[in-house]
Amino acid sequence: MATLFIYLFRPAMDDATNRAAQPAARHKRPVTALASTAFFCICAVLMGMTAWIVWSAHEVRLREAEATTQNMARTLAAQAYMELELADVMLEDIVEHLRHEGNNDATGDRLQRHLEQLSRNIVEIDGLFIIDRQGKWLATSLGDSEEGNSTDRAYFHFHQANRQAGTHISTPILGKKGGQWLLPVSRRVELADGSFAGVVLVTLRLQSFEHVYNSLNLGNTGTAFFALDDGRLIYRRPFDAKVIGMDVSQGVLLQTYRKMGPAGTAMMKARVDGVERLYSYRHLERFPVIVAAGLSRDDIFSDWRRLSTQIVAASLVAGALLIFLFRRLMRQIAIRDRIETELQQANAELEARASQDGLTGLANRRCFDEKLALELDRARRHAQPVSLIMMDVDFFKKFNDSYGHVAGDDCLRAVAGAVAGSVHRAEDLAARYGGEEFAVIMPGADTAGARAVAEAIRTAVVALQIPHAASAIGVVTISLGAATVYPGQDQGADSTALIRAADALLYQSKTSGRNRVS
Ligand code: GH3
Ligand code: MG
Ligand code: MG
Repeated sequence: MATLFIYLFRPAMDDATNRAAQPAARHKRPVTALASTAFFCICAVLMGMTAWIVWSAHEVRLREAEATTQNMARTLAAQAYMELELADVMLEDIVEHLRHEGNNDATGDRLQRHLEQLSRNIVEIDGLFIIDRQGKWLATSLGDSEEGNSTDRAYFHFHQANRQAGTHISTPILGKKGGQWLLPVSRRVELADGSFAGVVLVTLRLQSFEHVYNSLNLGNTGTAFFALDDGRLIYRRPFDAKVIGMDVSQGVLLQTYRKMGPAGTAMMKARVDGVERLYSYRHLERFPVIVAAGLSRDDIFSDWRRLSTQIVAASLVAGALLIFLFRRLMRQIAIRDRIETELQQANAELEARASQDGLTGLANRRCFDEKLALELDRARRHAQPVSLIMMDVDFFKKFNDSYGHVAGDDCLRAVAGAVAGSVHRAEDLAARYGGEEFAVIMPGADTAGARAVAEAIRTAVVALQIPHAASAIGVVTISLGAATVYPGQDQGADSTALIRAADALLYQSKTSGRNRVS
């Protein structure tokens, strides 16, 4: 993140540092700030939208998978219910027959026929059996000749031991005749005194369940199963004889069933194979049976994962493009700012040069005129005085004649320095009026103030000690005239009048001996 930040702002920051000393460019910053804010907003929106699309696609996929597994569980429940109900009705029928007709040699043949009739054309049913109290088959739908014994079967011992009148479902067994996997559904037969008289049994072909289980679209690692609600597994797809009868009562699904009730959907990790799946289960209303269908997380989200990768990649590309464009934009702004700054500098320099005297560096005549008019105007508004000192180098023609024009120029520069050095207030302006004449405008200064500054200038020029043979005291001197106007009071106090007044005083200094202030 920090790297990205530096990457994004490097040119802008460098530029900002360059410009720090130039306040003129400061107004450009809002443009940069605006662009950065817009950029970050767009990035945030892009990231937010990507996250939202990915998340909602995930939710949609999950909801779809939930609906799918729920539908599958409903189908399995309906099929299991249909088969068990069929078996139950038959058992009831047989028990009813036994109750009315009893079971003896006289009725045996009729029962045998009845069983054959009942099971005919019903593919789900393998056989119907009437078993006596010793476990011997009394009648079967398999035919007259079939003889057998069920003393080794769990359902027989269950009914022998339990006075439970209802239908009992056991774990699947391998059939004695066909070697097929069969689901035994049975009832106890009792004598009038309640003592054990045998068992009636329907065996359902597990194959008939397989048909429906195989028709489900379970993806690569999905599963569906059928278990007793005490946790014994009856059938599971993919089919594996080893898991039949396996105890899954401690598995997450049975635990969830105990917690959530007869129907539910949840993401769980299977005990049998350790795969995480979204399971929907249902407990049958009339039978102690649970059916469940589960799609593996991998299967459910494989499409979503591919789609999300594409969306994220597209967003990253869009983000990279944005960063690229943003950097270009920032660079453009930086270049524009630099050019503008350079232009402003050049302008400022030009402006300074236009108001400066080339030889002495003091303000030039044009600047002097503007400043004087401005200050007189201001003084009029604020009823304040303005003083003007005019000065002229004494016998300068002779200086030039004696020492040459180059020395004359040097002398003028030195005198200008002395003038500038004696003027301290920021609002005062020292200017070269023309030739070897200088002037100082002093806004707000009264006569005394002007005289003091004029005197200071005169002393400073003498202190330069520039040799001048033609001068009375042997060094370069100047004569000064200082005039003050009060624009509020003096009628017709304009520039010309003030200059004329100061000039007159300067002339007075000249005629009364030079090197003095009037
Ligand atoms: P005064 O004491 O009465 O002012 O005598 P002055 O000789 O100074 O009088 P004047 O005004 O006649 O002479 C001014 C001279 O200043 C004339 C000119 O040669 C010289 N001068 C004007 N501008 C420049 C300049 O830029 N450089 C040099 N070297 N000399 C200049
Ligand atoms: Mg002169
Ligand atoms: Mg002169």
